[in-house]
Amino acid sequence: MPARNILVINCGSSSIKFALVHEDHEPFALSGIAERLGSTDAQVHWQQDGNKQSLLLPHADHRAALAQVLPLIQAAAGDQLQGIGHRVVHGGEHFTAACLLDNASIAAIRATATLAPLHNPANLLGIDAAIKLFPSLPQVAVFDTAFHQTLPEHAYRYALPEPLYREHGVRRYGFHGTSYRFVSQRAAEMTGLAFTASSWLVAHLGNGCSTCAIVDGQSRDTSMGLTPLEGVVMGTRSGDVDPNLHSHLARTLGWSLEQIETLLNKESGLLGLSGLSNDMRTLEQAREQGHTGATLAIEVFCYRLAKSLAAMSCALPQLDGLIFTGGIGENSALIRRKTVAHLKLLNLSLDDQANASTVRGAAGPIQAHGHPRVLVVPTNEERQIALDTLALLDA
Ligand code: AMP
Repeated sequence: MPARNILVINCGSSSIKFALVHEDHEPFALSGIAERLGSTDAQVHWQQDGNKQSLLLPHADHRAALAQVLPLIQAAAGDQLQGIGHRVVHGGEHFTAACLLDNASIAAIRATATLAPLHNPANLLGIDAAIKLFPSLPQVAVFDTAFHQTLPEHAYRYALPEPLYREHGVRRYGFHGTSYRFVSQRAAEMTGLAFTASSWLVAHLGNGCSTCAIVDGQSRDTSMGLTPLEGVVMGTRSGDVDPNLHSHLARTLGWSLEQIETLLNKESGLLGLSGLSNDMRTLEQAREQGHTGATLAIEVFCYRLAKSLAAMSCALPQLDGLIFTGGIGENSALIRRKTVAHLKLLNLSLDDQANASTVRGAAGPIQAHGHPRVLVVPTNEERQIALDTLALLDA
């Protein structure tokens, strides 16, 4: 049987990220992003075999942008495109695994949109465009929340009156599930442990950041909750704050709900603390030059991250390893060093040289001799979505 290709689509409200994933080869045959869709300066950027290209597509919507890259995708797949995998942010309690897209599953994703009003409608735009352009190809939805549906009730319930959960779905869901599944499977392979008999703490540190406890191949707790705002400090998101902050700001400053939501989601986190940037590279450089805001942002980020990992350890029967992933986790030796320094009670300690050299896509152990395992594992959500899509096509 010739090797198969899956097109993976991750659609935002004004962007589409796409990647053509080959079953057997790690590098993407083609990948790119269409951005600023709907505006005069809509454009698409893609790369193939190391060559980068861009095209302006004034006023293109999601469908027009996908149509533009369609011939490229088909040529790169050599007429062996077997299916399309869509990233969908929120699957609520309905979706515990990836599913084939049909009228019923699309309606269920739409019904979950109240839980993710910014994300699910955007994901549906991509699904709708792809179904119209590729009507004969099977299409699959892979959910960020699905992996966390194994959380025990004591981990997913808020201490709120029960009707809010039963009637309105107010509970902790968790996100980044596709990444957690990918890196914890990889970590088990790298260490020769059985995925279904291993225990991991994981820190996914990208623009969004979260932590997770994974036991025997299942998520047992995670730091994000009803929405991706709960938990650790992120690029522009605050993570945990006192829930009374809302009423405090409304009462004392007269702020509206929209203003408070914008504050907590877009103006806080590393950006808010530093007053400089949401980008960890920028903050590390500024810290070296003595920028006090950048220095504080990094200190708070690492301390709160360590607190969250220590809290996640409550869900583990033993620790087979701590995994760092995401743009920051894969590249920042400083953040790994400072975070692990707060976790002495878990007996964690790093080998400075291994920590410094395991960056830019390198994977491997970075713990000091005789201490519990700490691994850097580059994530690849697109590949996991493609593997899930193929698994459903084979089923
Ligand atoms: P992601 O969303 O996974 O692409 O991660 C984005 C985050 O990773 C941003 O905060 C980047 O600044 C950070 N990042 C990428 N490369 C580095 C690096 N070499 N050192 C520190 N942070 C990095």
